[in-house]
Amino acid sequence: MSAVERKRHLTVTGRQIHIREESEKDQRVCPVCGERGLRVLKVTVATHVPEKFWSHLTEGFYFCSNPQCEMFYFNNVSKTYFLKDEVKTRFGLKERQPPRPICYCLQVTEEMIEREIIEKGCCDSLEDIVAFTKAGTGKWCLTTNPSGKCCREYLGLVVDKYLQMARGTSAERAVRSVAEQLKQPMLTIELAVDGMTCEGCEQAVRSAIESLGGTALSVSYREGRAIARIPVSVTVDELLATLDSMGYRARTERVTRGT
Ligand SMILES: [Zn+2]
Repeated sequence: MSAVERKRHLTVTGRQIHIREESEKDQRVCPVCGERGLRVLKVTVATHVPEKFWSHLTEGFYFCSNPQCEMFYFNNVSKTYFLKDEVKTRFGLKERQPPRPICYCLQVTEEMIEREIIEKGCCDSLEDIVAFTKAGTGKWCLTTNPSGKCCREYLGLVVDKYLQMARGTSAERAVRSVAEQLKQPMLTIELAVDGMTCEGCEQAVRSAIESLGGTALSVSYREGRAIARIPVSVTVDELLATLDSMGYRARTERVTRGT
């Protein structure tokens, strides 16, 4: 072995990793990326690794929060390593594909935040996102969040990312439509909808409601139902005609007026 070659170690499932020298001197340093990890309690690690590995657990684990790094939990003293695909829980910032969980207590994913900010355009601050999704308001982070701490810090990063993407015309449009909705009385319409067969249909119905300046409070193809909130300036018939034109036959079951 040459001097520059890193030592090889095995993870819990026998995958080979190359250990950085500095992690042997400082137990806080991630052996793969060299960034400093977050100390996590054994109870946190136990929640996220498969039960068959519980016998490997001691105190003294760290969590690598580096989004680019495949290391998840490491203990440089006992030389116990869990890579991200050796644990049960997905950590949103380390993932490229949905679902990317952000708030574990209230089950909020990056995709939900993206939808609020980019598609619905109804949130333009971290406070809005917290109010709409309840993200970051849970109390069980110690065990639910693999990092063992509250998601608020990550939540801030994710919200910032989408707010930056939303700047420009879509953000202006978003602010305008929120302002419109605030000053107009709204109707809440409960609908029975025939013709929805999948999540794509749900999305289509949602878009139809939003195209009329409304909000889809819920849409379910399994139940064949939707609840829409639309400005009173849009008639119920207009909503039904819009859905009909897309191949969904809807009947109103209940209409309530409110702001
Ligand atoms: Zn790392």
